[in-house]
Amino acid sequence: MTAVGKTLADEDVLETAKRILSEGYVCDNCLGRQFARISTGMTNRERGRLIKEKLRKRGLLEKEKSSEKCWVCNGLFERVEEWAWRAVAALRDYEFNTFLVGTRMSGLLAENEEMLWELTGAEYAEPLKSEFNREVGKILQRLLGKRVDFKTPDVLVLIDLNRETVELQVRPVFIYGRYRKLVRGIPQTRWPCRSCRGAGCERCNFTGKMYPESVEELIKAPVVEAFEAEDMILHGCGREDIDARMLGRGRPFVAEVVAPRRRTVDLRRLEERIRESSGGKVEVLGLRYVTKDAVEIVKNVKAAKTYRFKLQLAGKVDEQQLRAALEGLKGVIRQRTPLRVVHRRADIVREREVYDVRLVELGEQPIVELRCESGLYVKELVSGDEGRTKPSLSELLGVAAEVSELDVLDVEFELPASGGPT
Ligand SMILES: [Zn+2]
Ligand SMILES: [Zn+2]
Repeated sequence: MTAVGKTLADEDVLETAKRILSEGYVCDNCLGRQFARISTGMTNRERGRLIKEKLRKRGLLEKEKSSEKCWVCNGLFERVEEWAWRAVAALRDYEFNTFLVGTRMSGLLAENEEMLWELTGAEYAEPLKSEFNREVGKILQRLLGKRVDFKTPDVLVLIDLNRETVELQVRPVFIYGRYRKLVRGIPQTRWPCRSCRGAGCERCNFTGKMYPESVEELIKAPVVEAFEAEDMILHGCGREDIDARMLGRGRPFVAEVVAPRRRTVDLRRLEERIRESSGGKVEVLGLRYVTKDAVEIVKNVKAAKTYRFKLQLAGKVDEQQLRAALEGLKGVIRQRTPLRVVHRRADIVREREVYDVRLVELGEQPIVELRCESGLYVKELVSGDEGRTKPSLSELLGVAAEVSELDVLDVEFELPASGGPT
């Protein structure tokens, strides 16, 4: 925003400028910046030089010695180019398209700026930080041929003037896909050891975890390698039990690739790598680049599920009886939080619907397929969970029943195509 009607030649502008300069040498940038909102179309440096010229013409300013150091920025604006080159060095190993420069001011410079504004008022001024960010940014655009993005830069170049360091904050890469878990006994994510809570103890063989591997870890290793990333976090669209397989077209998930040095990798090859390196335990399908908002969408969607499982029956049941009992499960189920999870979930009664159920195969252990609403606990639907789930298959049969060999066949959700690689 510019101050309407004001010009750099105004009496009060020159008065203020004179007052600033009477405190000691001030560089063109720092002087010009105090009047940034008065005229546009020039840099602060040009603006400062112009004001000094006007003052000199009126005999209000002596010739400056080139050895003097600006008391406001402490010579910072002579070092813009140097900082830009340091940023270039820090960015050397990173793939990115857009960036933004940020600055952590030192206490000294912040104080200087405050002192100056007490002297002049900050009405027309631009903060030191924003000029410095812009000027370093301009050089970087020129040197790297990359563009500044104020909203979601791939890399934030953070210049810390106190510690004299350049830090990078690299925006994560998000990839969406579906995973299949082809073996039982693997949790979705790392499970910290119950005894040591992850610190490492004898019980967990000093791994800090309950299970040696997880879907997340099996996917993570090749992803971290391909993206040269620091870490990867798996955001799943729900999770299956540890002893259940995830089959069919797989479970939707978003992988958040943390601090990647590469932002574009061949995702078909990555799928291949995951299959190989997991020893065929986990497969991922349809990997594609998505935006960050996919994480919340995938985590919060209520997806209907299809399960297949074997039935373990405590007594003799004939086909007719079984078919009738299964038919009786269709509709609304009242399910109190299962005993096995009540220690970590609120103890409430949920109503969930069974949409469809069918007997796939009769035998020693009949095989059943069941399609239901998100959030229904299938094991308890069969066992009855000591009367906490009603109706249940056990109750309808009058014979104790348990699920064995549970597989998830489908999670009914697909992320709409959007955005493209970012
Ligand atoms: Zn200065
Ligand atoms: Zn342990």
